Amino acid sequence: MLISGIQPFTLLDYPNKTSCIVFVPGCNFRCGYCHNPEFVLPERLKLLQKDFINEDALFNFLLQRRELLDGVVISGGEPTLAPDLIPFMQKIRRLGFSIKLDTNGNRPEIISKALEERVVDYIAMDVKASLEGYRDLVGPLIRPDNIQKSIELIKNSSVHYEFRSTLLKEVHSAIMLEKMANLIKGARHWFLQKFRPENTLSPLFANYNSFSDQELADIAEHFRDRVNRISIR
Ligand code: SF4
Repeated sequence: MLISGIQPFTLLDYPNKTSCIVFVPGCNFRCGYCHNPEFVLPERLKLLQKDFINEDALFNFLLQRRELLDGVVISGGEPTLAPDLIPFMQKIRRLGFSIKLDTNGNRPEIISKALEERVVDYIAMDVKASLEGYRDLVGPLIRPDNIQKSIELIKNSSVHYEFRSTLLKEVHSAIMLEKMANLIKGARHWFLQKFRPENTLSPLFANYNSFSDQELADIAEHFRDRVNRISIR
């Protein structure tokens, strides 16, 4: 398993658990606002490659942290692109950790396999745009029907989950927000995330604007009845 980095401890990324984050390199999307371009763009990844973490080193780290950590967050890049993701999750599971998977939702077959194999306890899936708006935001490798399939799979699963959307004034019109809310209607938890114009994959996005706290609160209020819970982060 290729591992581009580890964050050894976080209280913020896995709700109610102490965890570490394992970053998997590479992504099939090119979201202009991405804050991790070094884990996404092949030319930037090449520069990091010498510092990639050896899988044995990661498992030694986890063995030593069994008492301290409840969970492992697998993030990216896009982890579902890794061909050995499921065996990797099984190996983490055997050590007794809970597992959270962060995903862009473009590979429902891998999400389905992780659910079937019971190697995931929490899924955080990005819902970036309306299905029609995805291609403009993330590039041509998107399969909108796959996004819809992943949403349904996750909503119908028994694991904890959240959908999360980073909102930008220039992208997320009232009509688009309406379509996104309908796409995940009835979901357990929708996080609206404030866009921060720092270290963006596309320099163009450094000039884009986030919604103010009040505007995000108004959006949350407007869609409160569409999902079970809506929060801002
Ligand atoms: S924001 Fe996520 S899905 Fe988009 S390019 Fe970055 S890592 Fe990939």
